[in-house]
Amino acid sequence: MPERKWTRQEKTQWLKSWIEPAKSILILGHVRPDGDCVGSTLGLYNYIRDNWPEKKVRVCLGKFSHDFLLLRGADAISHKVEETAVYDLCIASDVSSLERLGDFRPMFERAVHRICVDHHATNPGFAEENIVEGEASAASEVLFTMMEEDKISKATAECLYLGIVHDTGVFKHSNTSRQTMEIAGVLIEKGVSTSTIIDQTFYHKTFLQNRILGKALLNATLELGGKLIYSAVSHAELTEFGVSALDLEGVIDQLRVTDGVECAMLVNETGTGECKVSMRANGDCDVSRIAMEFGGGGHIKAAGCTICGSLQEAKEKLIRTTERLWMES
Ligand code: 5GP
Ligand code: MN
Repeated sequence: MPERKWTRQEKTQWLKSWIEPAKSILILGHVRPDGDCVGSTLGLYNYIRDNWPEKKVRVCLGKFSHDFLLLRGADAISHKVEETAVYDLCIASDVSSLERLGDFRPMFERAVHRICVDHHATNPGFAEENIVEGEASAASEVLFTMMEEDKISKATAECLYLGIVHDTGVFKHSNTSRQTMEIAGVLIEKGVSTSTIIDQTFYHKTFLQNRILGKALLNATLELGGKLIYSAVSHAELTEFGVSALDLEGVIDQLRVTDGVECAMLVNETGTGECKVSMRANGDCDVSRIAMEFGGGGHIKAAGCTICGSLQEAKEKLIRTTERLWMES
């Protein structure tokens, strides 16, 4: 979708003009919620609760890491799909396409009004009105620019800070801009406990998470003359190690920093005949193009998709497609 440049003031006005007339507001994120998904949806939830306490507001998301429970309101997030409820307004945050809403898609479609705030360049603009900023590091960053600074509480600041920390890999990915750092600075001034959020939600690992990280690294192979590092974890291995796919968070980042590698892929079997793929790029490989070939999407340097079939079939398809789209381009 072609991006339109909005001023801060226009964005603040835009958000307010949708919130004010709505009596009931539903906030949704994407399937397999990550830090930015939980941080941005909860940041918006806290912002609305603090400034419009009379409104009914609810966040619905799939199961997410227990690490995020330190955010205010995280324990009130519902995992249940409501079959009939109709909200006046539904706000999708960090959601790059309708499919990414997963089981909550009918709740979005039933809402009287539907808007989307996002930072995925591949977002087609599926809502009634969309603000998609592909340059922004995180949906949490886009949301910050829509909020009135003096109305941001410490609780809201913690959510947005966590979202930015996760999508920038603690301010190290190339999506980290001057604006990202300036926003982080404002959030720190709101009293955010930065080291608690960074250590407890990003670096902290359980013993079992460390073990599956080790297993995933041992399973890795170098492909395409060493430019691609590829690893897969089977459903049987997840079961054997007593972990779920949520515990693979961070594995792809370790694969990506391998010497000589320009592209990293991590695939895990869901146990229902599908393989979930995570991709990261260092060099000029556009992983969002590869992901889109399989119906997925994301960003140039971080993308994902789901492929039907066995791990072996997924590996063959991925390597062949990467070779065609990247090596031969
Ligand atoms: P991750 O590898 O962390 O799951 O995802 C990396 C990026 O790609 C995120 O921005 C995420 O939203 C996006 N992404 C991951 N999987 C999919 C997918 O199946 N479809 C789409 N459209 N985007 C995805
Ligand atoms: Mn995001």
